Amino acid sequence: MVAIHLSTIQRYSTKDGPGIRSTVFLIGCNLRCAWCSNPELMLPYNKLLHFSSLCRGCQSCVHAYPAAVYMEDGAIHMHPCAQHMAGELEEVCPFDALEQVGMQVECQQLVKQLEKDFTYYEESGGGVTFSGGEPLLQAEALADTLCLLKQKHIATCVDTAGDVAWEHMERAAQYCDLFLYDIKAFDAALHKKITGADNGRILDNAGRLAAMHKPMWIRMVIVKGYNDDRRDLRKRLQFVASLGSAVQRVELLPYHALGEGKYKSMELAYPIQEDACPDAETLAYCMEEGRRLNLPMYMEKA
Ligand code: SF4
Ligand code: SF4
Repeated sequence: MVAIHLSTIQRYSTKDGPGIRSTVFLIGCNLRCAWCSNPELMLPYNKLLHFSSLCRGCQSCVHAYPAAVYMEDGAIHMHPCAQHMAGELEEVCPFDALEQVGMQVECQQLVKQLEKDFTYYEESGGGVTFSGGEPLLQAEALADTLCLLKQKHIATCVDTAGDVAWEHMERAAQYCDLFLYDIKAFDAALHKKITGADNGRILDNAGRLAAMHKPMWIRMVIVKGYNDDRRDLRKRLQFVASLGSAVQRVELLPYHALGEGKYKSMELAYPIQEDACPDAETLAYCMEEGRRLNLPMYMEKA
């Protein structure tokens, strides 16, 4: 049986689709969004996080693996090779200040764990959501897991940025009840600038899902100075309107800097230095423009 590479399972989530859900975060992503709040899920291997608030400076890690970690000015620092020894380093820390992110779990084992919350899913109209990272990069394991969940009558959802081969998406779509689908920019050059990738395949795949009448919640993250240009916002919404009745919700996600602490724990510089929270006027413009296009607009109250 195929294994799936994941970081965490978040139980009782109410943000990733309808009802009460378990959200499974898969490791690996092919985009590089500047505002990403899950940097530990980008590269396709296990990661090591160092939480300075828990570190007592005992240096057990330095004594065990001096080539990977060192102490300077009273603080622990990691060499790049530490990321490839995450499990070993986590083991030697007596204060849980070093944490490995990532594990391989067989699909059947994962489903066994997820079905423990079946009653919550059933009573709330919820289910299981696969997020990440980009879950569709693990196409085979994902399709197997979705299929097993459907056999157990559990509703399924995939949260995707859409930049994958159509065959992968089509395969998942057989067992996926709802796609949460990110549209980050309409203009191809702008999309490449802010995510590192072209959006041709993303828009094309969204159109193909719509043609299959596959239910979608479109998610639009809005980041000031990155993708809040009104002309592009309008084109994004017009494109979403062209997808027709498959679109059941258009959700605006104003940027937040909640992932900043994770960058620090990986000794990475946070890519956004300026205040990138979108203006209230920009959000209001999107809501109005979307409603004018008869789109089912949604934004969570602050
Ligand atoms: S072993 Fe843990 S607590 Fe001790 S210095 Fe290393 S990270 Fe800090
Ligand atoms: S697509 Fe999502 S997980 Fe991937 S880099 Fe962008 S924000 Fe992060």
